[in-house]
Amino acid sequence: METHRLRNLLHPELLRERLAAEVVERTTLSFYRYVRLTGTEALRHALYTEWEQLGVLGRIYLSQEGVNAQISLPRANLDAFRSSLDAHVAFQGMPWKIAVEDDGKSFLKLKIKVREKIVADGLADDAYDVTNVGSHLDAENFNRKLEEGALVIDMRNSYECLIGHFEGAYLPKADTFRGAIEEVKEVMKGQEEKEVLLYCTGGIRCEKASAYLKHHGFANVNQLHGGIIDYARQIKAQGLESRYKGQNFVFDERLAERITDDVVSTCMQCGATSDRISNCQEATCNMLLVQCEACATKYARCCSPSCREIHQLPIEAQRAWRKGRSTRSTKTKAINDPDGLRQRIREEEELLARDGTLYPELIEVIQAKTNSA
Ligand SMILES: [Zn+2]
Ligand SMILES: [Zn+2]
Repeated sequence: METHRLRNLLHPELLRERLAAEVVERTTLSFYRYVRLTGTEALRHALYTEWEQLGVLGRIYLSQEGVNAQISLPRANLDAFRSSLDAHVAFQGMPWKIAVEDDGKSFLKLKIKVREKIVADGLADDAYDVTNVGSHLDAENFNRKLEEGALVIDMRNSYECLIGHFEGAYLPKADTFRGAIEEVKEVMKGQEEKEVLLYCTGGIRCEKASAYLKHHGFANVNQLHGGIIDYARQIKAQGLESRYKGQNFVFDERLAERITDDVVSTCMQCGATSDRISNCQEATCNMLLVQCEACATKYARCCSPSCREIHQLPIEAQRAWRKGRSTRSTKTKAINDPDGLRQRIREEEELLARDGTLYPELIEVIQAKTNSA
């Protein structure tokens, strides 16, 4: 098999245009399962061939411990996709979650990757019993226990909790799952006898977190089954009150999915109430931040005057400036110090007012470009 062909090599802009021009309606869904998989490379190639034909886009991780997928596909192919899943014994009867707020344009291409683990948790699996997980709760029972005063713990990273979370939840400061799980264990020390409610985006991280906390002496651990994604669906379907307020951070082009109209965060640049999440448009920065509309306009969708200055240069000059600089990948880096950012913005504004540029060296770059042109 020519496995090197089993991936999409087209340019993102082209893929974006192609998706925008597509007329079929797409459904965004996610699923995961902890299940022992063998021959993951061969399985990866087989799935790629099957799912590409069904118009599946998205990100799928396969590992010896299971599968974790966030995808979109033409609505008309949902039944065929179900049959494709069922045809693989390990994936039979796979429960999936459908995104609530969805224009179907969440993913640009199909990526199936074989990895060490389906969630990068950094935990040694042989150090605790990964199958001894907490009790799975549906939305109604989760709400009930919440009202009864159970401890609520968000198992997501700090930047994911920003724009939406359950009322009264403990929100980790760590920006990795590994960090969050250790932090929770430390912070909750002494409360091992209390009833604990865990939740995350789709439920998968709580599978590990609940087993880990139980191993560390927490007696009464519960987890939100299907995560926030399915909670939102159940709330809607059953007409329940959403105790989750704001938006749900998601891992695709949308960045967030609105669950309720509450706005629980503030703009990191001016402090105004806002939950508009965005990446700095300067390509080498790409920092994730909460930015209100007014600041988005003021800073040209960038995180700071320095990024704005680069972003507004002619494209040739931007390229010359970027040469040799590494590009940080999306979402891995979020602003965790808004006060520091605001301080930096003030300093940069002052320099800018005085010198007219934050990059005196740029003048040479631009001149060199103009001369060579
Ligand atoms: Zn603002
Ligand atoms: Zn920036």
